[in-house]
Order: sequence, then structure tokens, then C-alpha cells
Amino acid sequence: MDRQILLTPGPTPIPPETLKMESLPIIHHRTKEFMDLFNELHENLQYLFQTKNKVYSLASSGTGAMECAVANLVSPGDKVIAVACGVFGERWIKILTAFSANVIPLRSEWGAQVKPEELEKVLKENPDVKTVFSTHTDTSTAVLCDIKKYAEITAKTKAIIVVDSISGLGGQELYMDDWHLDAVVSASQKGLMSAPGLGFISVSPKAWGLVQESKSPRFYWDLRAFEKVFATGQTPFTPPVSLLRATNESLKMIRKKTLKNVWQETKELAQFTREVGSSLGLKMFPKDPCEILTSFKVPEGLDGQKIVKQIVEKYNISLAGGQDKLKGKVVRIAHMGYIQKADIQKGMKALAETLSSGVF
Ligand SMILES: *Cc1c(COP(=O)(O)O)cnc(C)c1O
Repeated sequence: MDRQILLTPGPTPIPPETLKMESLPIIHHRTKEFMDLFNELHENLQYLFQTKNKVYSLASSGTGAMECAVANLVSPGDKVIAVACGVFGERWIKILTAFSANVIPLRSEWGAQVKPEELEKVLKENPDVKTVFSTHTDTSTAVLCDIKKYAEITAKTKAIIVVDSISGLGGQELYMDDWHLDAVVSASQKGLMSAPGLGFISVSPKAWGLVQESKSPRFYWDLRAFEKVFATGQTPFTPPVSLLRATNESLKMIRKKTLKNVWQETKELAQFTREVGSSLGLKMFPKDPCEILTSFKVPEGLDGQKIVKQIVEKYNISLAGGQDKLKGKVVRIAHMGYIQKADIQKGMKALAETLSSGVF
């Protein structure tokens, strides 16, 4: 069988140079060697987030970084708005509920973003809202949220805005400082071309005030502990050294290519995928689509889960099906990170053959 091709929206393929870094002998983390790595990685992360704020690396998946944001920025009873246009917006609501926040869910119909005017209206009606949570690109619905607009609206109030750009970062335009985003979380295994296992969080000076005040229980996620040892190039607990080293390698590649070029390439791959899909008669699911992945509606009467299963078994190509209420109804193809055009071509060919074979 051919080598496996990953076209899933996380995990994504990893460049060979990065894979090599993962296999190097472990260094101890209380050393000058680690400190140099820490500082270099940090600079690359600041470039990725387009920020002068610190970016903290966490030993966790993306959800861990989301929980870290909530534990550090929200106290029990705080009134917050959670903008949700898919599974990952719903995840904000779940985490916030677990931390006893007073959550106002602001949901869109799946496939569309929440209109900025709606956020403006709810913020006006609730002047005591402390924080707005949103997703950048909701990977489940392939919807792009206008976080730049959300942030402009939020900045006119006392509230701060926190963004999950776990799948967006690296593939979709984001300027943390210029757009006045107060906190951004991400993870290693999507646009960052690295293995799963690292979460990232960056917090603006305005949001740092809330970190000091938060009454939520936190220990492992306490950003004050990260801050305390930051200047010494250390993390409070044992860091995943191999992952940090590998992610640094991938970030160096992104930086060399420049974010603007990476965004442009992602856009071109999205366009290509959509043109091929359209020639097969496939319709896009989202009305407000992002560029990092494409979600096609499964033609009436067919089961998307079976199509995905058939393709991985026959071609060794992994596409993603739908999540939650979209299960069976969509097929998703990622074009972020190290995913190559040739691989998308193979994936779309497999999809075309499978759709016309009628075997599933
Ligand atoms: C993948 C993803 C998550 C969850 O990340 P995990 O690493 O699986 O915890 C959250 N939000 C978005 C938008 C994602 O794409």
C-alpha cells in the first residue's frame, strides 16, 4: 500500500526535518542548552502570533490551552459571552460551565459565523460581561469567524476577547497585537506542522490583570507560575523537550517562508480543492468558509462516515468525516501546514472514485 496520506484537520503531516528533531537525545531542561531553545522557540512563537506579548508553551493538547485560558481569566460567577459556530465554540461553553462561569451562549446556525452586529447587541445588553470567547476557525463546520471585527467591538467595552486559533494559527491571517486580541490559544498539531502534544497561550497586558485576580482553582495551569520562571528560560514543570525542539524547527520554516506566503499558499490550496470539488458536483457546507480546510456536503442519500472509511481502507488516505450533528453529512479535507497539493490531488481523486463507485 502507498504511504499514508493525512488530509485530516489535525493531526497533519510533519516535515522530515522536524521529525528528525524529535528523535534527538533528550537534554535536561535546567540547562543553558534548554534555555537557548526556549528563547529561540519563544521568538518564533511571537512571530507566529504576531505579538510582543509572551507566549507560554504548555504540555497539553489544544483543549488544555483552552482550559488554561478559562482557569486564569475567569472567576466563578463571571458573566462571559461564548460565541459558538460549531463543536469548538461549544467546547468553550462546556469548559466555562465547568468553571461555573455565567455563560451567555451566542450561537450561529452551523455553517455561518455569528454576525458581528449580534455580538455588539449582546454586549450592549450586558455591560457587565467581562470576557468574550470565540473560535477563529471552527474546524468542525469549516467556518471563519471575523475575530478582527469581534475584537474591535469588544475593545469599545470593558470586556476582553479570548480566541481559540488552534486550527487557524499558521494558516489563516491573525495579528494578535494589531487586532487587539487579549488572549489567543493554539496547539502544535494543525497549522504548525508538528506532532500533537503542545498547547500555547498568549495573554495581553490588559488580560494579565484578570490572571492576577482569577479565583478559579488552578495549579498546573497557573500562568503566574509560568511567568515567575520565564526570564530564566524555564517552565515551572518538566517540559516536553522533544516536542518543543521539533516545533521550533517547523516554526523556523514558517518564519523563513513568511506568514504572508504561508497564508497565500493555504488560500491557493483551498481554491484548488474547491475547484476540483465543484467539478465533481460537490457543494461546500459553510456559508462563511475558512481557508485551512474544506467541508463538502455529502450528496443526498450517501453516508459520509462510510465514504471516509472506504477511502482510508482502499487508498490509505485519511480525510475527516463530520462531527456531532454533521456526522455522515460532510467530508472534510484539510489544506493547512505541511499538506501538499499533490496529496490533495490524490485525496480528491480517491473521493471522486469512491463517490462514483457506489460501493459504500
Ligand atoms: C482541534 C481543535 C481543538 C481541540 O484541540 P485538541 O488538541 O484536540 O485538544 C479546539 N479548537 C479547534 C478550533 C480545533 O480545531
